[in-house]
Amino acid sequence: MDILYSGLFFVLGLVLGSFYNVVGLRIPQRTFLSSSRSACPTCNHTLKWYELIPVLSFLIQKGKCRYCQQSISYLYPTVELITGIGFQLSYLYLGISLDLWITFSLISLFSILLVTDLRFMIIPNKILLFFLPIFILLRVFHPLEPWWSSITGSVAGYGIIALIIIVSRGGMGAGDMKLLGLLGVLLGFSYILLAFFIAILIGLLSSGLVLIKRGFKAKQEVPFGPTIVLGAIIALLFGDEIINAYTNLMILK
Ligand SMILES: [Zn+2]
Repeated sequence: MDILYSGLFFVLGLVLGSFYNVVGLRIPQRTFLSSSRSACPTCNHTLKWYELIPVLSFLIQKGKCRYCQQSISYLYPTVELITGIGFQLSYLYLGISLDLWITFSLISLFSILLVTDLRFMIIPNKILLFFLPIFILLRVFHPLEPWWSSITGSVAGYGIIALIIIVSRGGMGAGDMKLLGLLGVLLGFSYILLAFFIAILIGLLSSGLVLIKRGFKAKQEVPFGPTIVLGAIIALLFGDEIINAYTNLMILK
């Protein structure tokens, strides 16, 4: 059963990932509700169903449009694979449970923000407003301990970045602030702080790597929106282990 379900969740993730590409590209351009079918962004040729199969179409066409030979961005199959593998791994780790649906919603948010942040460098309000009722509902059915941790977590998430924005005069964006506030509903007070800490660490590490790779020349912005969501996923799944390991380390000292 495990193999069957993990395969199913992988395919579900691939298909949803392909949809998240469309959401991430169209919401910032306000074309989401237009009925136009998926087309090549270069030659505008409408794509057939067999050119829209997640990952496979990309591989078969060797990453090129069949009509104009223009390269297709690696971002699309990457988002599909991340969603697919993310769904599969979280199923194998959590089994069928409410925590699994919570993790799926976070992976979905991560994939959409990966597209909007890398392509347009924004975190659209529409995306955050779409996830807000979902997160509230998930915490109504599966409340935190104590339940009002959802409220303090949200205020704390919003507050930390608001403070950073005031102190650093724009070191982070309003989008990041709203995003961490939104995630606080799901994570609660202590985990949202942990999530933020993990996100900062990942951000520092990856911008360090980018700097080393580019020979310390260009100042490359690391998209912080998806990094915050990644921090939230790690905090939610491994928060207890991380906090325990950290306290043990402190006691040994
Ligand atoms: Zn084309």
